[in-house]
Amino acid sequence: MSKPKVDASQLVREAVAAELESLIPSLRESMMKPQGIIHDGITCSLCSVSPIVGARYYCASCDMDICESCEPEHMCNLIKYKSQSVVKA
Ligand SMILES: [Zn+2]
Ligand SMILES: [Zn+2]
Repeated sequence: MSKPKVDASQLVREAVAAELESLIPSLRESMMKPQGIIHDGITCSLCSVSPIVGARYYCASCDMDICESCEPEHMCNLIKYKSQSVVKA
C-alpha cells in the first residue's frame, strides 16, 4: 500500500528561503559568490591584477601566478589553488 506523499515540509522550506532572500539581500549575494577568496600579495603575471581574487592558478612551467580571467589564455598545464594555503613541492 502506498500513500500519496504530502510535501508540506518542502513547501515550508521554500517559503522560508524566499522570505530570507527578501530580508537579507546581502546574504543572498554572498551565497552567489562561492569563490571570494582573496590571495593577498599575489599578483597575476599576465594582467597584473593584485591581489588575485577568486580562483587562482599557478603555472609550474613558467613560474607564474595567474588569475581566473587569464587562465583560459594560458595554454600550459595550470595548477589550481582552492584556498590561500600554498603547497610547495
Ligand atoms: Zn590576470
Ligand atoms: Zn605556462
